[in-house]
Amino acid sequence: MNLLVTVLGVVQGVGYRPFAARLAKELDIKGTVINKGGSVQIFAQGEEAALGIFIRDLSGRKPPGADVTQILTEPFSPGEEFKDFQIAASTGITEFTPLLPTDLPMCQSCAAELSDPQNRRFGYSFISCVDCGPRYSIMESIPYDRGTITMDCFPMCPACSKEYKGEGPDDRRRHAQTISCHDCGPQLILAESGRLFHKNEALSRSVEILSKGGILAVKGIGGYQLACRPDLPAAAGSLRILKNRGRKPFAVMFPTLNSIRTLCEVSPEEEKLLLSAARPIVLLSTNSATNNFCPAVSEGSRFLGAFLPYTALHQQLTDACGPLIMTSANLSGEPILFRDEDILNIDSPYLSGVLYNTRKIVTPLDDSVTRVVSGKDQIIRRSRGYVPSPVILAEKTPHTIFAAGGDLKSSFCLYQKDRAYLSQYFGDMDSYEVRKNYQDNILRMQGLFHLEPDILACDLHPLYRTSAVTAEMSGKGNLRKVLIQHHHAHAASVMAEHGIDSCIGVVFDGTGYGTDDAVWGGEFLVCKGAFFTREAHLDYVTLCGGDSAAKQADLAASCYLAAAGEELHHKDADVIRAALLEKTLTHQTSSMGRLFDAVSSILGICSVNSYEGECAVKLENAAAEALAEGILPYPLQFIITRGKDGITADPIALFRDIARSVRQGSNRKAVALGFHAAIVRMVADLCREIRIKSGENRVALSGGVFANLLLAQQCAAELNKDGFEVFQNESVPANDGGICLGQAWICGQMLK
Ligand SMILES: [Zn+2]
Ligand SMILES: [Zn+2]
Repeated sequence: MNLLVTVLGVVQGVGYRPFAARLAKELDIKGTVINKGGSVQIFAQGEEAALGIFIRDLSGRKPPGADVTQILTEPFSPGEEFKDFQIAASTGITEFTPLLPTDLPMCQSCAAELSDPQNRRFGYSFISCVDCGPRYSIMESIPYDRGTITMDCFPMCPACSKEYKGEGPDDRRRHAQTISCHDCGPQLILAESGRLFHKNEALSRSVEILSKGGILAVKGIGGYQLACRPDLPAAAGSLRILKNRGRKPFAVMFPTLNSIRTLCEVSPEEEKLLLSAARPIVLLSTNSATNNFCPAVSEGSRFLGAFLPYTALHQQLTDACGPLIMTSANLSGEPILFRDEDILNIDSPYLSGVLYNTRKIVTPLDDSVTRVVSGKDQIIRRSRGYVPSPVILAEKTPHTIFAAGGDLKSSFCLYQKDRAYLSQYFGDMDSYEVRKNYQDNILRMQGLFHLEPDILACDLHPLYRTSAVTAEMSGKGNLRKVLIQHHHAHAASVMAEHGIDSCIGVVFDGTGYGTDDAVWGGEFLVCKGAFFTREAHLDYVTLCGGDSAAKQADLAASCYLAAAGEELHHKDADVIRAALLEKTLTHQTSSMGRLFDAVSSILGICSVNSYEGECAVKLENAAAEALAEGILPYPLQFIITRGKDGITADPIALFRDIARSVRQGSNRKAVALGFHAAIVRMVADLCREIRIKSGENRVALSGGVFANLLLAQQCAAELNKDGFEVFQNESVPANDGGICLGQAWICGQMLK
């Protein structure tokens, strides 16, 4: 009997062909297996019973990195009898959209070889096999093969070549496309003070640099990282200067899970996430009083971003030096550096050396950031280890939709059938380099996945750079462009993920363009399919200073005080009052993000956002401390008004009460907690009222403000108590990094 078997899913770059060959041999099946486009095709000849087992085991016993989504079979008549079972050369395009492998962390077998002096790859920093190693970051085209990844400039030595052909004792390296060794693969090079050091010497000198408190640039999987010791204030301080980075906390890479446990609480879910194939940064609760890290690492945050080594080199460095700050090598606002020449050209007294190799990175990818909330994984930054795996949606679209996302944490989405392919995180589109990466990767993903958009979606904001990119694509291809309201897209990203077609969307963030030209950000939307109505929102406040109101929380606080008829204490009080009076650079906003900033500032907790959300993070910290110390919340409450334009919650009267509490010298932690409690109550009250009117019992919580763990957990708990079904983002970020999915989904709903 002859069968043509097509295997769909993540089946390339994960040792699937050698696995199929092994299985065929066991069952005495003859034929060939090839990578075809993004799928695997098998011509199988054998007994009917054996073929049955073969088909079953092709998905049942798959290799670790593989994900089989579908197996198609059809009869075929071969021109000749097969003599044996062979792995044949790959061929090009198929009609199936491929699923491409993500970059995989070093597997346990490779880790054992790395530390075995008897093994010929002992101490080889680029060890890999069919189960592990870089994948998407080094792929130039499909099918995934030695010739289409950036390993093609490293010819295999005879020993590796033998293993590649499956002639060695174990077949973990049969057709392992990243196979290499001390003799033939990429090698370590250290550039230090104008000199180059190689292999072992490069590694030992790098360890010395780090141990002495220097900063080392390390070439990782998706780009360069900057590493230094977390226990030396001078090192961490220099790193902030080198990166031109304010007070945003740094992530730390630990050599082992046990070493993380000595400093952080790790739940079983968090352990699973730390060890998952994506090896993401996981935000863990930590007690900064008991660790020996200097304050500059987490800057007072009650969370530490911790992660585990995912390459042999990371393991070698952390084994030798202990935990290391490991942060993307970029300047504040710019994308991660991934080209050797770019980092080698940095001339800074703070950078002690560059540890690199000549294997090219094709796709730049930052480390992904995650956390666990109420037992569920949440992705905060979706990049290495998750991209390019699609988010699978409940509904199939007959179209190919491109959704541009937002400007601040830009990422785009291509949606076809039931798959939404999200790009990696790019960063702030104000940077030329970020825009270039964004645009390069549109073409790259379209090419790799054979996706040609027939409709485009972008934000309603007329000045978004992502909207401009969409306009250009629309002009070139004569394609229809759909504009989607920012907060609607946030709510829809939750609906898309969870396969629900209606909900009350509670969306809190900093800024998003509203349908009335105001800046929205504290929204209650009733969403049904492609449409929404705005049922309630924070009442408008007039802010001045344009974009700087988002950075300068004391400026925002002054505007709230002015609106409340209170005295201003700002050094530029007269200028602010005049600007508000004459409406110079003013805008109306219902932003919850700005309210958090203003409250943080007036309580004297934090007055400048040196990174997005800093004032809110510190306000949350103060509230969490109050909770931990048993301090009762200061009584605060939103006044609700029902007008012809819907329901509004008044932030100004609340702010007046907070200003009074400051004058009275109330405990600011108590006020911080009271502020959180007032929002939670307001959310529950308004959702109840909207439920009565709309009959909708499902609530989606989204938007950057829900990065606030205390707020997210308490809102969910309060709503659950009321019988609501509560949904939050899990596989895409709740911040602007996730809105491309919402835009794509709404567009799909419109075209139904
Ligand atoms: Zn391995
Ligand atoms: Zn070799």
